[in-house]
Amino acid sequence: MSTILFDKIVFGPIRSRRLGVSLGMNLLPTDGKLCSFNCIYCECGLNEERRTHSKLPTRQEVKEALIQKLTAMQAEGVAPDVITFAGNGEPTMHPEFGGIIDDTLATRDRFFPKAKIAVLSNSTMLHKEDVFQALNKIEDNIMKLDSVSDDRIRQLNVPNAPSFTFDKLLKQLCRFDGNVIIQTMFLKGELNGESVDNTTEPEIAGWLEALKKIKPKKVMIYTVDRETPVKALRKVTKEELEIIACRARKEGFEVSVSA
Ligand code: SF4
Repeated sequence: MSTILFDKIVFGPIRSRRLGVSLGMNLLPTDGKLCSFNCIYCECGLNEERRTHSKLPTRQEVKEALIQKLTAMQAEGVAPDVITFAGNGEPTMHPEFGGIIDDTLATRDRFFPKAKIAVLSNSTMLHKEDVFQALNKIEDNIMKLDSVSDDRIRQLNVPNAPSFTFDKLLKQLCRFDGNVIIQTMFLKGELNGESVDNTTEPEIAGWLEALKKIKPKKVMIYTVDRETPVKALRKVTKEELEIIACRARKEGFEVSVSA
């Protein structure tokens, strides 16, 4: 399995399909993966194959690593468009996530005040008030919503918590009052003899209804880009993504497509 793990706290900058020149922040261990989902398409690999044996970086270590990297970038004359929390799992699982966001805002303002701060999250920690508040302080809080069907969420995202449901997720996403970006991975394929497809008409119709309730400031749709740990998964074509995007745009949403 040739999935990717990041071996540092700060990585890049890389040119991201969705975000531009992005400096990556990994708040998770560097020898494995830590996530409250176990998505069948995860670029970091499946949780059971990526168990970690090291600790999470401390708030101070994250701050120092970022200052060091931004000092070097300033000396080289390279500016990031965005500082992106992603990495080897779910960044909002870090117990000091709120404080780390505060430090990052201050460091960003000191070095590159025009750079945005983004968090790519699976939306599972929004019930934690400090996580919710921290996500409201940054420019791009990008929350995962892959399906409105509990069965599909269990198949695609495989939440660790049996109590995780679409209804609870929707309630949390609506709390942002529109100050949120929704990210949706569309894909097709097969798993254990069952079809995997979150582009069916009932799924798309339900997804559009959910968007109308959440009122996100932007929607990012994309498909499989690299090798997936579950092999029988495949990309949705750019044309299919554009048709989905077109339907969302007709409802008034700003939609970006990465294929
Ligand atoms: S939420 Fe992200 S990191 Fe977690 S399993 Fe899914 S794709 Fe991987």
